[in-house]
Amino acid sequence: MQPETDWVQPCPPTRPHLQVRVDLTAIRHNVTAIRSRVAPAAVMAVVKGDAYGHGLVPAARAARAGGAAWLGTAVLAEALALRTAGDTGRILAWLAAPGADWAAALAAGVDVGVSSAAQLGEVAAAARSVATLARVHLKADTGMGRNGAAVWDGGWAALVRAAADAADAVEVVGAFTHLACADEPGSPVTDGQLSAFSAAVADARAAGLRPSLLHAANSAAALTDSRTHLDVVRVGLAVYGLSPVPAESGPAGFGLRPAMRYAARLAAVKAVPAGQGVSYGLTWHAAAPTTLGLVPAGYADGIPRALSNRGTVGVAGVRRPVVGRVCMDQFVVDLGPDSAAAPGDEVVLIGDGVDGPTAQEQAEAADSISWEIVTRIPSRLGRLFVAGGPAAAAAELAAGGVGRTGDQR
Ligand SMILES: *Cc1c(COP(=O)(O)O)cnc(C)c1O
Repeated sequence: MQPETDWVQPCPPTRPHLQVRVDLTAIRHNVTAIRSRVAPAAVMAVVKGDAYGHGLVPAARAARAGGAAWLGTAVLAEALALRTAGDTGRILAWLAAPGADWAAALAAGVDVGVSSAAQLGEVAAAARSVATLARVHLKADTGMGRNGAAVWDGGWAALVRAAADAADAVEVVGAFTHLACADEPGSPVTDGQLSAFSAAVADARAAGLRPSLLHAANSAAALTDSRTHLDVVRVGLAVYGLSPVPAESGPAGFGLRPAMRYAARLAAVKAVPAGQGVSYGLTWHAAAPTTLGLVPAGYADGIPRALSNRGTVGVAGVRRPVVGRVCMDQFVVDLGPDSAAAPGDEVVLIGDGVDGPTAQEQAEAADSISWEIVTRIPSRLGRLFVAGGPAAAAAELAAGGVGRTGDQR
């Protein structure tokens, strides 16, 4: 089998003092763990948002190696990028605005999610233009109030009718919906959405459609509510080893391993007297003489400005507070009095909870969610892809690393 690390992105590391390391073995392991949990349902690994910041193509490759029968993307361009990279498996893309390049997606054999009768018309026209039968999954809005044809006002009935009328161009292979409150296990909202979805599928069957792939579950539903598994689960966050229900359990409780580690190197270290203010607005002042460390990462590098005076980082295995405001390219940490830290020392921005804060901890400090913390790290930083677990990762790093983005091999 081709190693996952052969799939590198054409994105050279632009900030050598920042390293976003992605453990592809963890991604593969997580998909396998999810698969055994949800079987006989199939796994669709959701790789939108540059695979939640983990690198679209290598992450997708690792997910396939773990047994993902499907890849899921939001926009068509992401699905096409996977095809360009050589992925030949089933892919579903479910988000498009009028004028999207449906013909390209259909010609590339991408399944498409369709959310309205008007959109179905666009897809059917594109299918005829490239002389193919579009594989379509009809999306029902069963209460989330986001994407999908509303089941409460005739939108779903119109979509079903349009699909039945376009049978020459469109094959309805699936029907799906999205759950608004799956991360609150036991929520009655999920019960209501599941029954509305059953009714919607019955409407489609009554109109002569034969959707054989029904799907509703995101990570939270896949991990906590087997009623939602149906034929396929669309899992994103869990693939990357993060918990969608952190109040219930961390990743390990679900058998998941976080795949990302984000670290920087201290750019400068300086002693300051009591009363020294820090960063724009001088929103923090040293209460006593201390040592400040300058971290060369800021909101341009995915560090939330909301971590100003609230976040922590790991330095030599100890949590150190972010002091003052996070700037575009830098922020300051309080290393404490008489610190032995030196420029060049590692600062862990997203770690394993021992070497530095987890993505979940950063999310809580920033009043955000772990989905956003990892996804917002820009792809322009490049990614260091490792495979083989922590021990092999350490050996590979010692040997100069594998698959660092920009190495065109
Ligand atoms: C993002 C998304 C998912 C995956 O959600 P997670 O909570 O990350 O598992 C599933 N389905 C749809 C429609 C999505 O937009």
